[in-house]
Amino acid sequence: MYNFAAGPATLPQEVLLQAREALLDWEGTGLSILELPFTGEEYRSIVERARADLRALLRLPEDYHILFLQGGAYAHFALLAMNLLGRRQGADYAVTGHWSRRACNEARRYGEIRIAASSEAEGFPGIPPRKEWRLDPRAAYCHITTNETANGIQYHWLPDTGEVPLVADMTSDFLTRKIGIRDFAMVYASAQKNVGTAGLTIVVVREELLGRALPVTPAVFDYTRQADSVNGVNTPPTFAIYLSGLIFAWLRQRGGLDWAEDRSRRRSERLYRLIDDSALYHCPVRPDDRSRVNVCFHLPTPELESRFLAGARDAGLLNLAGHGAAGGIRVSLYNAMPGEGVERLLDFMSEFERRHGGGD
Ligand SMILES: *Cc1c(COP(=O)(O)O)cnc(C)c1O
Repeated sequence: MYNFAAGPATLPQEVLLQAREALLDWEGTGLSILELPFTGEEYRSIVERARADLRALLRLPEDYHILFLQGGAYAHFALLAMNLLGRRQGADYAVTGHWSRRACNEARRYGEIRIAASSEAEGFPGIPPRKEWRLDPRAAYCHITTNETANGIQYHWLPDTGEVPLVADMTSDFLTRKIGIRDFAMVYASAQKNVGTAGLTIVVVREELLGRALPVTPAVFDYTRQADSVNGVNTPPTFAIYLSGLIFAWLRQRGGLDWAEDRSRRRSERLYRLIDDSALYHCPVRPDDRSRVNVCFHLPTPELESRFLAGARDAGLLNLAGHGAAGGIRVSLYNAMPGEGVERLLDFMSEFERRHGGGD
């Protein structure tokens, strides 16, 4: 079985086996990983290792903090506005698909949110070209969604925001490619797409953005308080952090972000080539803005799409239905998807086209 779900998503078999062991007996202590007190030595060593591995993967400079929080990216759409707007009261948002639109709508309740660029009127065909962006130099921050999970759209360049801090929801492409972290003042991601299980939100934030939280910000979601606290403000999602730590180590062993980027580029190119060479499959996203992690496409009719999904299921290729907002088919190619899964899918798609492409 190969699970192409957008999230919670497939995890490496090796990591699941390690986690199974740790559920019963963590490193010979006789305690389950679930039972370790979060303030104890053992658990602290797990968090420190996870943090060090993530720092190494991102080549993170000293002035960036890593926070392991709860709530999910959707909660942080509001929380980041509470934490970062400060006295400026205004921020710029780029609306490029389902998730950035939600991010924008949540932030609206806390300040004056401007749309710096939008492709909504055209039905989200890609990232608005640079010349259409209207950035405000007084904005507290500029927010983008580096990969639109529902729409299959990804940034392959970054807006030049000058002095304005760039903030990015990286939930679906976190650790799938190299990034220059200095380009961003803050990046955040729910863990269940690429780096673990639901319940954990990773926030990477530059020191200079701290200290601006609105007074109404809950203590456990105040980035500054969490960054300053040694023992943590509240109980963190201990198992989810442990699991992400295993993923970071797994990724480093394979060659880190160089390995991940190279692999996802090659895989997605093969899929897009098959789609573009086909008379049956159609990808609505402009070629320059296509996602390397969520490949979205359509078939000519809903009936053919249902047949495609049923056939895929029979072939052991699961959860390929598109997001409700976009429909069609979506292939999620996160780091943990084995090469064999991609080969099987490519074979299935070619075979399906041979049988249905002639317009029967
Ligand atoms: C899945 C997803 C979210 C929402 O994550 P939750 O954990 O459900 O809050 C937000 N942004 C992007 C880009 C996503 O892919």
